Amino acid sequence: MLSKVKLHWQILIALVLAVACGYFAPDFVQYVSWMGVIFLRGLNMVVVPLILSSIISGVASIGSGSNLGRLGMKTMSFYVITSLIAILIGLFFVNLFHPGVGANLGNAETLNNLPTASTSVSDILIRTIPDNIFNAMVQGQILPVIFFAILFGFFITQIQPEKQEILVRLFDSIFEVMMKITMFIIRFTPLGVFAIVSKEVAKNAGSLGNIAGSLGIYMLTVFVALIVHAGIILPLAVKVIGKADPYKHFRNMATPLLTAFSTSSSNAALPLSMEATEHKNGVSAKITSFTLPLGATVNMNGTALYECVAVIFIAQAYGIHLSMGQQAIVVLTALLAAIGSAGIPMAGLVMMTIVLTAVNLPLEGVGLILAVDRILDMSRTTVNVWGDTCAAVIVAKSEGEKLNI
Ligand code: ASP
Repeated sequence: MLSKVKLHWQILIALVLAVACGYFAPDFVQYVSWMGVIFLRGLNMVVVPLILSSIISGVASIGSGSNLGRLGMKTMSFYVITSLIAILIGLFFVNLFHPGVGANLGNAETLNNLPTASTSVSDILIRTIPDNIFNAMVQGQILPVIFFAILFGFFITQIQPEKQEILVRLFDSIFEVMMKITMFIIRFTPLGVFAIVSKEVAKNAGSLGNIAGSLGIYMLTVFVALIVHAGIILPLAVKVIGKADPYKHFRNMATPLLTAFSTSSSNAALPLSMEATEHKNGVSAKITSFTLPLGATVNMNGTALYECVAVIFIAQAYGIHLSMGQQAIVVLTALLAAIGSAGIPMAGLVMMTIVLTAVNLPLEGVGLILAVDRILDMSRTTVNVWGDTCAAVIVAKSEGEKLNI
């Protein structure tokens, strides 16, 4: 009977049950948490081979270098511009609401070995090139894997046609198998979501219950800014630039978005967003496999916005005035921090140290916002994934593809 209910409704029901279970029966959570662990392991299991095979077969089918360059330019410009817009929306609301003014610094949690990002901008760029591709795959470093896959796919087009054909067919076939495995794992999403979310609710319910005033306004600021970006700016882009129906697109993306929300991981949601964008929206595999894996690591509209709001909140809480010039530095470094964040939980929080350092703010400020980070992580990850899928639609339309939306 349950299998007749659409998957995204099943996930939604699982979410509601998870919140109730985590809140009212936290002791029960330990009996189901293994389902979440298995679900996440399943998704992580497919990510690297899925990205590798999809990008190689996608790029090989793009053909010429100029086509690849055009697609790359379009995709990257869209990513950078929308991330900047997201940051400016965050900047606007944090300056409007002033959530940090009057915050009680005594509420800051002490940072017990919170890893700080030692990465600099040049580091992020250099690390895109793997020194050992197998190492990168083993460690699940997505950006180097993408880099290698694009090169491999491109140079397939440069060899003798008969060899080319063998490789294209091989990687196409591997990609199809990976998609089938993905679809198999997706069926378990409601169980995974239930386990993951109930555990998080059980863990965080206490701290969420006594959020001090300014922390509440800080959360609200992030939520409002995210909603404006995801609910107005991105749908407008889909409608005006992509000439597609943003509402239909949203409905088609329900499963990946709910998964992003539940797991706080763009990487975990990637197999689902690729499946939905290709099979529900009708975007070609070529464009899906180019835009989405790249987007999952590089395009983080929600994270970019959050970095900006959080850093300015911290400055306000410490009573440190940031000049226009310093706020401009926050905008630029927030963009870089978002680009450099991996698609995993808490990555944005760790990368925030880059932004704090750039404007000489105390790193301990991160302790102020730690208590509410999970719920904000869930929300910003959803916006990150939403931004990627909107980009896929717009790029596909600009390439003349006919979609179902
Ligand atoms: N969890 C986010 C993601 O996977 C990254 C972040 O922490 O902001 O997209």
